[in-house]
Amino acid sequence: MESGLSARDRVGVQDFLLLDNYTSEAAFIENLRRRYKENLIYTYIGSVLVSVNPYRELEIYSKQHMERYRGVNFYEISPHIYALADNSYRAVRTERKDQCILISGESGAGKTEASKKVLQYYTTMCPTRNNTQSIRERLLQSTPVLEAFGNAKTLRNDNSSRFGKYMDVQFDYKGAPIGGHILNYLLEKSRVVHQNHGERNFHIFYQLLESGDGALLKRLGLDRTNPQQYHYLVKVRPSLCVCAKSNIVIYSCNIGNCPRVSSISDKNSWKVVSKAFTVIGFNEEEVEELLKVVASVLHLGNTQFGEDEYGETHLTTEMPIKYMIGPLSLEQAVSARDALAKAIYGRTFTWLVQKINQSLAFQVSALKCSSVIGLLDIYGFEVFQNNSFEQFCINYCNEKLQQLFIELTLKSEQEEYEAEGIGWETVEYFNNKIICDLVEEKFKGIIAILDEECLRPGDACDLTFLEKLEDRLGGHAHFVTHKLANGKIRKAVGREEFRLLHYAGEVNYNINGFLDKNNDLLYRNLKEVIMMMIEGFTLLSCGQAATQFKLSLAKLMDILMSKQPSYIRCIKPNDAKQPGRFEEVLVRHQVKYLGLMENLRVRRAGFAYRRSFEAFLQRYKPLCPDTWPNWQGKLSDGVSTLVKHLDYKAEEYKLGRSKIFIRFPKTLFLTEDALELKK
Ligand code: ADP
Ligand code: MG
Repeated sequence: MESGLSARDRVGVQDFLLLDNYTSEAAFIENLRRRYKENLIYTYIGSVLVSVNPYRELEIYSKQHMERYRGVNFYEISPHIYALADNSYRAVRTERKDQCILISGESGAGKTEASKKVLQYYTTMCPTRNNTQSIRERLLQSTPVLEAFGNAKTLRNDNSSRFGKYMDVQFDYKGAPIGGHILNYLLEKSRVVHQNHGERNFHIFYQLLESGDGALLKRLGLDRTNPQQYHYLVKVRPSLCVCAKSNIVIYSCNIGNCPRVSSISDKNSWKVVSKAFTVIGFNEEEVEELLKVVASVLHLGNTQFGEDEYGETHLTTEMPIKYMIGPLSLEQAVSARDALAKAIYGRTFTWLVQKINQSLAFQVSALKCSSVIGLLDIYGFEVFQNNSFEQFCINYCNEKLQQLFIELTLKSEQEEYEAEGIGWETVEYFNNKIICDLVEEKFKGIIAILDEECLRPGDACDLTFLEKLEDRLGGHAHFVTHKLANGKIRKAVGREEFRLLHYAGEVNYNINGFLDKNNDLLYRNLKEVIMMMIEGFTLLSCGQAATQFKLSLAKLMDILMSKQPSYIRCIKPNDAKQPGRFEEVLVRHQVKYLGLMENLRVRRAGFAYRRSFEAFLQRYKPLCPDTWPNWQGKLSDGVSTLVKHLDYKAEEYKLGRSKIFIRFPKTLFLTEDALELKK
């Protein structure tokens, strides 16, 4: 390669497989940085798409762009999410194989935007038929409704999805979208009752209060003049104050914190959501029923408890519905109230998803469904200063997705080598099954031990859980606590923590709240929650939540396993949500926890590049007098003639039945350079 500032030097390589120094993390990040500076936010690792959030509207998503990517191969044109969307779609059309697109990345990295762009591509570019027009609209309009109820402003993202979402788009045999189905995971219900400073509750609360019709609000008993009066919308800091007159202690005071967010217009969103409800097929009564539940959660949040001189709590209420419970301790009463609010909201969300699914379900009378493309938008590895049960569930999910990636990538590599009749090459990689087993194995894994501890009567608590983990998993290569084998203390892990050595790196989990949270997800049944409020007993549980999550994850894995996957890995370039800022430390962290270097290693293990004889010949035929302007004989002979003329060495390539496999990127670079010179 010539020295000097070639285009490749300036904008980097569009596929990391072409990096000379592919094991170097620094080279990887430098390539990302160069491209980002040129607003080239997409780069491939083979068929994996890496996307860096531009935090600005780029002129690359027009209909013309969509047209440009229809039917092209990855390497012919600059990387784009449309290329990936189109590639999956073509596989559905030509091979009739179900596809899935797995989108991961940390909060604010651009996952949800990516999934919307894929969906837009399908609803714009796929053929229409009269009876499928409405399904397109419904597919698109399901998003704003789910976002109103499942998204919120967080510190990291003003429109952060607080649930994981898997959506199937179903196509008929002519390739027209005819239906859809959504599965939801891990809604962050705790947000209903508590938000960190600078964050908000789910959008719907503010939309309703700000823009709901006056008469509607009246029917719901809501007052928009002072949103601060709703405890669940302001930061509630528990505090005690004594009311001198009645000698009753009032628990919980609110501190004004109902952030208006410049990037969010609750008014406009409300309009969009209201319209979306109609498109999806909710009638007015159904919408009002739904909003009644939303309002009831706000009212519930305003229920206060007072303690009498005997230290007992009775319900004093500001809400329209009154009922008495008690006696409970103050703390019990508040947490029971919050558990109820969370349960109500969680169930409503599930109901909403079901209702949307009914609307998206394709009619049996419609043309038979041929294939599906699934879209998974789920949080990537989360590593915070303090990691708890939620991070444990999310990271376990990512560990499973990595396992799927390894299995499917290696499987497809192997199948391709076999189909092409070239010998199998051993691939060096880290198989993370050992970590998945550590978490999920029956009787022995962390989840089993957690469930066991939740069921055990007596003194079971978070600390006894940790002790049990130490006892049973102490020797495991991927499990660590503060205790060292020699009786000394490991400083890097706290006394209330355990550390898992995930495939992407190590994470310390604080065990505080593990038992409660594992139980809490159990409060699926309102009746049970109310029973608990009344009787104040801990539910005897038969199937704890981490287990439930494990089961729904196992189901998801089955769904994904039966499909051909594509991957989008999203990266957030800075925490300030600003365009043009590329913070290396932050990016490096994500490259690590997205497992991108590991992705690259697996992809580079065999041959870096492969192309069909036809495509290879078509592109490079000008480089050899025997193949120019046209090769008349067998394609394989043409390629053979061409590479001999180009002086490829035997160890650099192999010819399969229909493709040429090229081992090193350099070989392809030199050929590309030769082509450039020729032009
Ligand atoms: P995630 O789902 O990963 O948490 P989002 O998809 O919600 O993140 O993206 C966060 C914000 O980043 C979006 O609201 C948008 O402002 C910006 N963003 C993400 N992807 C793009 C993109 N491709 N083009 C322009 N802005 C984007
Ligand atoms: Mg999101």
